[in-house]
Amino acid sequence: MRVAIVGCGPRGLGVLERLLVRLRRGPADRDVVIWAIDPVEHGPGQVWRTDQPDWYATNATAAELTAQSFDFPGRPQSYADWAGLDEDTARQIYPSRAEYGRYLRETFVRLCASAPPGVRVFPLTGTATALRRVDGRPHLSVDNGHPDLLVDKVILTTGHSGLEPDDEERALSAHGRHIGGGMAVTMPLDDIEPGSTVAIRGLGLTFYDVTRALTLGRGGRFDRVDDRLRYRPSGAEPRLIAGSRSGLPFRARAELNEPAELAPRPVFLSDDRLAELREAAAARRGQPKLDFAGEVEPLIVAELEHAHRRRDGQEPLDVDVLAKPFADQHFAGSDEFRSRLLDVLREDVTRAKAGSTVDPVKAALEVMRSLRPLMPDVVDFDGLLPDSQQDFLTRWAPMSFLLSAGPPVEHVEQLTALIEAGVLDVVGPQARFEADSEPSRFAVESPAVAGSRRLADVLLDARAPGADLRRDTNPLLRQLLADGMISEHVNVDPRTGRRFASGGLAITASPFHVLDAKGVPDPDVHALGVVTQNTRWFTQVGTGRPGRDSPFRRDADAIAGAVLAGEVRSWPVPA
Ligand SMILES: Cc1cc2nc3c(=O)[nH]c(=O)nc-3n(C[C@H](O)[C@H](O)[C@H](O)COP(=O)(O)OP(=O)(O)OC[C@H]3O[C@@H](n4cnc5c(N)ncnc54)[C@H](O)[C@@H]3O)c2cc1C
Repeated sequence: MRVAIVGCGPRGLGVLERLLVRLRRGPADRDVVIWAIDPVEHGPGQVWRTDQPDWYATNATAAELTAQSFDFPGRPQSYADWAGLDEDTARQIYPSRAEYGRYLRETFVRLCASAPPGVRVFPLTGTATALRRVDGRPHLSVDNGHPDLLVDKVILTTGHSGLEPDDEERALSAHGRHIGGGMAVTMPLDDIEPGSTVAIRGLGLTFYDVTRALTLGRGGRFDRVDDRLRYRPSGAEPRLIAGSRSGLPFRARAELNEPAELAPRPVFLSDDRLAELREAAAARRGQPKLDFAGEVEPLIVAELEHAHRRRDGQEPLDVDVLAKPFADQHFAGSDEFRSRLLDVLREDVTRAKAGSTVDPVKAALEVMRSLRPLMPDVVDFDGLLPDSQQDFLTRWAPMSFLLSAGPPVEHVEQLTALIEAGVLDVVGPQARFEADSEPSRFAVESPAVAGSRRLADVLLDARAPGADLRRDTNPLLRQLLADGMISEHVNVDPRTGRRFASGGLAITASPFHVLDAKGVPDPDVHALGVVTQNTRWFTQVGTGRPGRDSPFRRDADAIAGAVLAGEVRSWPVPA
C-alpha cells in the first residue's frame, strides 16, 4: 500500500502517528510506503517553521501543547516534557513558534524511527501540484523534480492557504505598496523603510505579529519600570497606524492560575440540552438544524454569566460591550480616542494579570475559550441553518476570537507602551482604508474620531484569510477543484431551499472523504484540519492536551483506520 500525506504540519503529523500506531499493532511485516510531503519542514510545516524569529510566539501556554497521543509509539512527550518544564513553569510560558516547531520536528523524526518492519516513511520536500488518475491509478505530481508518485490513498492536510486577491485588493495593489494577507513570517516586512508610515488593517493576532516584528525585530526594546513597560526605540522602526471594525486589539489571555481544562463541564450547553434542541427543531422546522443566535447563543451567554458570578462578578456581564467598547461613541479627536483606548487596554492587562480564576471577566472569557472544542457538535456538517451558519462565521466567530483567542498579557502591555511612545496609533472604530488621491499613498480614517484621517506609505492587510475554496491559491486544490475531484461545501435547508456556500472543502462525516463535484465521496482521498475549515469548525490544533484523548487524535485515527482497511488500487476507472 502506498499512502501520500500531503502537508506535514500538525495534522499531517497526527495522521502519520495514527497510521504508525495501527501498523505497529499488526499484522506484522505489511508492505507499506508512506510519503510525507511538505515544501517547508516535516512536523513544523509552515506555521511552526523552525527558522522564524523568536518574536513570533504561540498563543497557548507550554502546559497546553502536545503533538503526541497517549499511545504514541515509545513514551509520549508533551512539549513541556520535551522542554524540561515543570507544570507551574509551563503554565507561565508561551513558547516561540520556532521552539514549538523544533519539538514538532523531533516528533516527526521519532515517529519515522518507530516504523515497524515493512513500513517505510519517505519525507519529500516539495509542493504537490496535481492528483490525476492514469489508467485508473492515482498519480500525484510534486514540484521538486521527483517522478509522479503512484499512490493508493491520499490525505490532504494542507492547512492554511493564501487567497487570490479580490477586486478591492487588486485596486489597492495597483495604487501603491499593498502587502496582502497571510502570515507575518512570509510578508516582506524587511523592505519597509524606517520612518515610513504603515497602515495596518486588522487588530488580531497577525497585527500583534507584525507590530512585534517592526519594533522588537528592528532592535527596539521594552524595559520594565515600576511595573510598567516602556518602549526604547531603535530609530529603525516605521510609524504604525492600525484599525479595525471594533477599534480594539484582541484582548489578552488571562494568566492561568490552575491547569487549563481540555473542555469544561458545561452547565447549560450540555450534550442532553443540545439533543433536546435538535429534537425540538426537527419537530418545529422539519429538520434538526439549529438557529445559533436564537437557540445556542443564549446557552453560551448563560455559561459565561455563570462563570462570572462564581468569581463574584457584581456588574452584569455584557459580551457585546467587551467586544465593542467604542460602539456608538464619538470622539472629539485622536487624543481623546487614544486616552480611552489606553484605559481599556490597561484595565484588560490588570484583569489578565489577576488570572483566570480570580478576575470575573477573565474567568468568563476563559470559559468562552474552553467552550470552543464543543462548538463542532453545534456547527459541523450543517449543524446550523444556512443563514445562521453565515451569522456564526461573520459575527460570533470574530467576536469570540477577539475576546478569547488573544495573545499573552505581555504582548498587550507592549502595545500600550508602543502607543505611549508614539510608535503605534489606533485610528478608531469602523476604520476605513483606501487609496488616497496622492499617488502611491493610502488613507486611513475612523468616522467616529474627528480629524483622524492619516496618510500612509504602505498598506498592510493583517486580517486572517478565511476559507474560500474558489479563491484558494494552493495549486493542488485549484487543480482538484477545476477537475471536479473536490467541491465547495454548501449548507442547504431542504425545506426552504436556502443555501449558504461556506467556502470550505466539502467532505463526508468521519473518516472525512472529499466529495467530488457531483457530491460523490472519493473512497481514497481524505481531508483533515484547517483545509476543511467552515465545513467543520475549530480545525486548529488547539484541541489536544497532554495525556488526554481529543478530537484531534480521534479524527486522525479514523482516517488511519479507513486507509489501512481500504482496498489497494481501488480507484474507479473514470468513465
Ligand atoms: C500565524 C499563525 C499562528 C498560529 N498560532 C497558533 C497557536 O499559537 N496555537 C494554536 O493552537 N494554533 C495556532 N495557529 C493555528 C494553526 O492553524 C494550527 O496550529 C495548526 O498549524 C494547523 O495545522 P494544519 O496541519 O491543519 O495546518 P498547517 O499548520 O497550515 O500545515 C499544513 C502544511 O501543509 C503544507 N502544504 C500546503 N499545501 C501543500 C501542497 N500542495 N503540497 C505539500 N504540502 C502542502 C504547508 O506547507 C504546511 O506546512 C496559528 C496559525 C497561524 C496561521
